[in-house]
Amino acid sequence: MPPKLCALCSTARAIIRRPKTGQQICKDCFFWVFETEIHNTITHAQLFRPGDRVAIGASGGKDSTVLAYIMKTLNDRYQYGLELFLLSIDEGIKGYRDDSLETVKRNEVQYGLPLKILSYDELYGWTMDRIVEKVGRKNNCTFCGVFRRQALDRGAASLGVDHIVTGHNADDIAETVLMNIMRGDIARLGRCTQICTQGEDTIRRSKPFKYAYEKEIVMYAYFKKLDYFSTECIYSPDAYRGHARAFLKDLEAARPSAIIDIIHSGEAFEVADEVKKKLPRLCKRCGYIASNDLCKACTLLEGLERGAPSLGIKDRTRASAEDLPDHFRTIPQFHMPDTSQHKTVAPSTTPLTSDTLATTATSPS
Ligand code: SF4
Ligand code: ZN
Ligand code: ZN
Repeated sequence: MPPKLCALCSTARAIIRRPKTGQQICKDCFFWVFETEIHNTITHAQLFRPGDRVAIGASGGKDSTVLAYIMKTLNDRYQYGLELFLLSIDEGIKGYRDDSLETVKRNEVQYGLPLKILSYDELYGWTMDRIVEKVGRKNNCTFCGVFRRQALDRGAASLGVDHIVTGHNADDIAETVLMNIMRGDIARLGRCTQICTQGEDTIRRSKPFKYAYEKEIVMYAYFKKLDYFSTECIYSPDAYRGHARAFLKDLEAARPSAIIDIIHSGEAFEVADEVKKKLPRLCKRCGYIASNDLCKACTLLEGLERGAPSLGIKDRTRASAEDLPDHFRTIPQFHMPDTSQHKTVAPSTTPLTSDTLATTATSPS
């Protein structure tokens, strides 16, 4: 029997069955469609403007490594005019993050992108290893998630960037939609499918892989032989997410479009005004965005310092902005970056769309 030919170029041998569509295609066509879909997501959502300084949240894992590679490739291919950086957060987890950061350091050299690493220890005076010693393995991911979010913004502010991109993929977003439905958290359901989020006092964040399937990201990394770190965190990840993940994998096996369908369902939810979040304000202690007097990180940190870590978990409103004893660690003041001082390319007011790009790229076939 003659070898099956690629469904897209009809010349090369098909060696890949594309998880998203089931099409049998060749390696070059897979690279091309995968990259072009991300480019289309970026231009359709008008994520960037020429001259933007963009930090890629880099953990050394497959998603962020592929994201760094693709952002660099598309920036060069379509002349986006972006200044790219790698930004890594070191949570302080021995045997996990220290190893994965070695991968990011190699990526810095491989992709020629400047790297900034900011650690929990430097910012909060606590590593995740010490937090787990204190709080056990039950709420560790709550601390880690709150601390990471703020650390990313602070790392980005120190780089003077306009925008953070993260490697969240379609599977992650579909899982979050399912989790928010299962928890009845309609306000979050309305926000979790947004490709780009920005409050007045936070740095713009977006997810160029919103429609990219996890299986295709793994396949891309494998065929491109990208250098990434594949070990899971040594502390148990969110068990509830694990149920949503297992359910989603079952649905995907029965019908691959389930992932995109769930994202579209999440997008279609109209969030009523009364469940929309109240307007955020600034933390009275550190100046970061907050929904009470103190931001979540200051509340959790105060609990750790007081030796009462449940303070920030059970009742976030209990911490007040009163002065703390001198020996308590606090977080430095947060200031939104003034990116104009850092620009090497004049920023443009015109967002990148397929119309504004002088496209010189051609298809591989
Ligand atoms: Fe942090 Fe939990 Fe993720 Fe580990 S699994 S890196 S503790 S959020
Ligand atoms: Zn082909
Ligand atoms: Zn604060």
